[in-house]
Amino acid sequence: MRPACRPKLSIILTRINAVLNSNMKIKFVCSVLLVLFTTVALQAAPKRLLMVTTTTGFRHSSIPTAEKILAQLAESSGEFTVDFVHQPPGKPAGLGKDATDAQKDDYAAAEAKWVVSLQDALQKLSPASLANYDGVVFASTTGDLPIPDKEGFLNWIKAGHAFIGIHAASDTFHNWPGYIDMLGGEFKHHGRQVSVDCLNQDPQNPATAGLPKVWTIQQEEIYQFINYDPAKVHDLLILDKHPETGDPGHYGVSWCKNYGDGRVFYTSLGHREDIWDADPGMPDRKNSPEIAKAYQAHILGGIEWALGLKK
Ligand SMILES: [Zn+2]
Repeated sequence: MRPACRPKLSIILTRINAVLNSNMKIKFVCSVLLVLFTTVALQAAPKRLLMVTTTTGFRHSSIPTAEKILAQLAESSGEFTVDFVHQPPGKPAGLGKDATDAQKDDYAAAEAKWVVSLQDALQKLSPASLANYDGVVFASTTGDLPIPDKEGFLNWIKAGHAFIGIHAASDTFHNWPGYIDMLGGEFKHHGRQVSVDCLNQDPQNPATAGLPKVWTIQQEEIYQFINYDPAKVHDLLILDKHPETGDPGHYGVSWCKNYGDGRVFYTSLGHREDIWDADPGMPDRKNSPEIAKAYQAHILGGIEWALGLKK
């Protein structure tokens, strides 16, 4: 009996081994597929940005261009989607010096009504709503904005989210030291529009990787800051000459910084429509389409850095 049994036992063992092997192979293939699908899913899932362009102070005419270009960058990169907090309609125009009491009353009523619409629009910045986003962009916002939970907003950035500030984002919340501290600088003033040579301080950073060592902009409004300390930020673009007087010095133009576990990117450039938009047919173009394309790469790289998509 024994000699006859041995081959059968051997066959059974080989079959068990084969089944085990095939199970292991299936498990291995499944694991590889899982990793592959997860990687693809992570790569494919775009980040979610919220772009805020509301203003209670000066309102830049370039805001619609900024919104259009950011939407185009979202679409062309495929790296992020963008949702908006637009300016609600109905903000009353300023009162004349000789306004009557009745006109003043009408103005106050219209302003109060509009502020309610603004508060409603800014509900997208509540902690509950921010759970739907990876980053927030303030583009040429101005003044004090009635956002629902100021400390909650800063804590949300600190928790590992992105804040991207463009141009007048530094002319916003002058009365909120926590915001200025997060941003790394506060708008003080600007002179007439000039041509400047921006010195690229970090050709490795995605925001400045596409820019030359000296990036000459043909015409732009250049900001001066208070509460800006180069030791507290990572400079990306600076000037070594004052844009109005030519005095030598260190003048911040764009920088980035960590904020808790979050990341902040700021560029003071972005006043003019033709620095945003590369359309060669734009009337009264002062900046070449190449400057606008370089600026778009600067913005896109800053967003990628702040969202942690690129280092
Ligand atoms: Zn401006």
